[in-house]
Amino acid sequence: MALVVQKYGGASVANIEKIENVARRVIKAKEAGNEVVVVLSAMAGETDRLIQLACSAAAEPNGREYDALVSTGEQVTVTLLAIILNRMGYKAMSYLAFQAKVITDQAHKKARILMVETKAIKNELNKGTIVIVAGFQGVDREGNITTLGRGGSDTSAVALAAALNADVCEIFTDVDGVYTTDPNICNKARRLNNISYDEMLEMARAGAKVLQPRCVELAKKYEVPIYVKSSFADEGGTLVTKEDEDMEREVVSGVTYDRDQAKITVVHVPDRPGVAARLFTPLSEHNIVIDMIIQNVSLEGYTDLTFTVSKKDANEASRLIREVAKDIGAARVEVDENVAKVSVIGVGMISHSGVAAKMFGALANEGINIMMISTSEIKISCVVQAKYTELAVMVLHDAFGLEQKP
Ligand code: ASP
Ligand code: MG
Repeated sequence: MALVVQKYGGASVANIEKIENVARRVIKAKEAGNEVVVVLSAMAGETDRLIQLACSAAAEPNGREYDALVSTGEQVTVTLLAIILNRMGYKAMSYLAFQAKVITDQAHKKARILMVETKAIKNELNKGTIVIVAGFQGVDREGNITTLGRGGSDTSAVALAAALNADVCEIFTDVDGVYTTDPNICNKARRLNNISYDEMLEMARAGAKVLQPRCVELAKKYEVPIYVKSSFADEGGTLVTKEDEDMEREVVSGVTYDRDQAKITVVHVPDRPGVAARLFTPLSEHNIVIDMIIQNVSLEGYTDLTFTVSKKDANEASRLIREVAKDIGAARVEVDENVAKVSVIGVGMISHSGVAAKMFGALANEGINIMMISTSEIKISCVVQAKYTELAVMVLHDAFGLEQKP
């Protein structure tokens, strides 16, 4: 008997009819002879609504209360699914995080799962019960409710699958798999049959929305195969797994973009030891994540330093940087929010040269100026003007021949 964890996102549980559709899919897996654990998100739009309520009550709501509030959307969907499965004649039980013992650290709004105590769940599975767990939420060691960050129910599902040693974690969503790029931007985008954890991780980090990066990290660590599928169609799907010899090592397997970027430049920075540390320490103290950093070659003892942050952090980051800039004698700070990051990703890059040249050439042919570049073993990212995002994605998709393969 296989153990299957199935996760359904907000669009799949948006109303009673859709939850009935989920119930039928769950029953199908159960009737096929599997033990089934289901993880659900809140109804589409519900978490946004709850966040708005919290933020209209106070500009900076207390983290503990915020998490207790915004996690309630999942309580609604898991109980409704249990009620519907019961009505359809199946044994089913809902579990909130404190009941399923999804233990996290205390970092409210972005808690990390430390462990899942599976005893209670296993007991119920042994009795033939369909177990339904609220995604997105956890509980710290003191019993406070926490949440895992937006899109966190994917992570809940993989954590449960890892803890239960499940055979597969199926993530049902409103698209039928992982594509070479966003099909909403590029109509030549092609669904991938499979992709390695490393590529999926880079894609998620570089802006692909289909899976939360942390969920892929966990899946990789515990080698949980993830199957991304559509909750509305039976065909398709993409398997995210460990890289093996059968997998084609594509030079480039995907093109992603991220509009959530702001570029900050500190102009005419005195070039001496300790300056970069002084500039970036206040940012880290305020939990601002920095993506790319470049520093120009020093000319006559001065240099320019440019970095990118998420748009939501741009104001705070530039305020903090302006304070330090004044102290260290830099000339000024410039902020540009009209930028985006486009990236090409592929494991084959490790053993192929010329990928960067091809990428830069394709962008240059369209007159797209590259403002910043960063690379990893399997990724090349360029910051460009935001208005070129779609064009850049399309020309890169073409340049690397991503539409052609069967
Ligand atoms: N409901 C949460 C959110 O909207 C978690 C999730 O859907 O994964 O972010
Ligand atoms: Mg989601």
